[in-house]
Amino acid sequence: NVRGNAVLLGQQFVGEVLHKGCVAVDATAGNGYDTLYLANLVGISGKVYAFDVQQAALDVTARRLTQFGLDKNVQLIHDGHEKMDMYINTPVDAFIFNLGYLPGGDHDIITRSQTTTRALQIALELLKPGGRISLVVYTGHCGAGEESRAVEEMAAGLNPLVFGVLKVAFINKSVAAPFLIFIERVKKENESLAP
Ligand code: SAM
Repeated sequence: NVRGNAVLLGQQFVGEVLHKGCVAVDATAGNGYDTLYLANLVGISGKVYAFDVQQAALDVTARRLTQFGLDKNVQLIHDGHEKMDMYINTPVDAFIFNLGYLPGGDHDIITRSQTTTRALQIALELLKPGGRISLVVYTGHCGAGEESRAVEEMAAGLNPLVFGVLKVAFINKSVAAPFLIFIERVKKENESLAP
């Protein structure tokens, strides 16, 4: 909701383009809430790829999916999202990136500017026309400043003929509140990715 849940806003943005049979990616599985959301929307005829560098996060995600009977169409991948192109060779309808650290886990294991921007580059290449990417970007923890600036700069540089890009920020909250970057690829085929 607009009162302040960045995660829900991100889910809503990508959820609008997802239906049964779609392909979706959770670039940061964490506690599995986004993976569950995506798996529910794409159904058993669809497919979700979920990445995390922490096995503990994937274990929590796996349990959550099993609990709701949604584990069949989800591939959990214990690797960095910067290597997504080694695992996905099909066009993708939507990506969720929920950056930062695992709530309740080790706060030193964080997403980082170099790997996040590499992963975003791959996501932009895999994204179908009409497809969407949501990034929830945190700014408060150590290392977050560099990452948030890099992500915003990259998103701001995307060719406006190919991508619609929005920044959504809570302007009546602390400057350390998360913000969102929403990206939608235009529906026409065959555009160049160069700005
Ligand atoms: N989407 C999750 C949910 O619904 O609970 C929350 C994600 S949490 C904020 C961020 C996650 O990113 C952590 O679990 C962390 O281990 C993971 N992470 C850090 N670096 C990563 C990388 N290079 N590739 C994939 N995941 C990474």
